[in-house]
Amino acid sequence: MTKTDLHTHTTASDGSLSPSELTALAAQVGLTCIAITDHDTVKGLRAIKALSQPALEIIPGIELSTTFEGRTVHVLGYHIDPGDRALNAFINDRQSRRRLRAVKILDRLRALGIDISPDELPSGSAVGRPHIGSILVKRGICVSISDAFERFLSKGAPAYVPPLSLDAREAISIIHDAHGAAVLAHLNQIGTMEQSGAVCEALHRSGLDGVECYYSTYDDKWNKFCLSLAAAYGLAATGGSDFHGSRKPDIKLGELYVPDSVLAPLRQRAQRYK
Ligand code: AMP
Ligand code: ZN
Ligand code: FE
Ligand code: FE
Repeated sequence: MTKTDLHTHTTASDGSLSPSELTALAAQVGLTCIAITDHDTVKGLRAIKALSQPALEIIPGIELSTTFEGRTVHVLGYHIDPGDRALNAFINDRQSRRRLRAVKILDRLRALGIDISPDELPSGSAVGRPHIGSILVKRGICVSISDAFERFLSKGAPAYVPPLSLDAREAISIIHDAHGAAVLAHLNQIGTMEQSGAVCEALHRSGLDGVECYYSTYDDKWNKFCLSLAAAYGLAATGGSDFHGSRKPDIKLGELYVPDSVLAPLRQRAQRYK
C-alpha cells in the first residue's frame, strides 16, 4: 500500500518540524511519498538527498500566496528545481518583503498595546502570521493559533496586513520557469464552489497543471467537485494534508493520504517544463 501526502510545511516556513523531523515522522506513520511545499522557500529542500530514506520519496515543492481577481489564491509548485536561479531571486525578494509585512503586523499589535520585538521573529524562515500567532500563544494573550487569527491576524481583524501581491498567473509562470507543475491549492479557501470553479477555469487557460482534490478540510462534496474540475479541464488531481505540526494541531501527518496513482500524471505535467 502506497501513501502519498503532497502538501506539508517545515520550519523553513511556518511548520513546527524541521525537514529531518518531518521526513522521520512521515516514514514512521507509513507514508511512502511526501512533497515539501513551504511558503516562499526551498530551504527545506536543500538537504533533500541527505534526508531521503529508502522507503520515502520526497518531491520538491513550494507554495505561493497570490491574488486573483481580488481573492487570495494559493498555488503549489511540484517537481521544481530548487537550484533554479530565477526562482531563488524571486524567493529572496519575497522573504525580505515577508519580513517587512511581519514588522507591519507587529506595529499594529503595538498600537493595540501588545509589544513584540521584531527580534522575536524567526530569522532563517519565511516568516508568516502563524509565527506571530505562536508568540501570542506563548505570551498567554491567545489560547491557540486559530484564536490569534480570529482576534488579530485574519482579514478584518485589527492587526491584519494583506499578503504580498502576486498575480496567480505570474506564480504559474514562475513555477513553470523553475521546471515545475502548478497546482491550485485548497479551493474551499478561495470562495464558494462557483467562485473557486471560475478561478480554476481562468487559471487553466493560463497554464495551470493540477487541482488539489484531496485536502484535510474538504468534505465529500468539495472532493467530488475538485475531481470534476480536474476531469473537465484535463488537469492532474493531487492531494495533501497541509501538515504544519503544532501550528495546525488538528492536522496529523499520515491521516490524509492519496494513492501513488496521482504521481504519474503530475510528473508528466512537470515534464512539459523540463
Ligand atoms: P501568511 O503566509 O502570513 O499569509 O499565513 C498563511 C498561513 O496561515 C497558512 O499556513 C494558513 O493556513 C494559516 N492560516 C490562515 N488562516 C488561519 C486560521 N484562521 N487559523 C490558523 N491558521 C491559519
Ligand atoms: Zn503555512
Ligand atoms: Fe495554503
Ligand atoms: Fe500550505
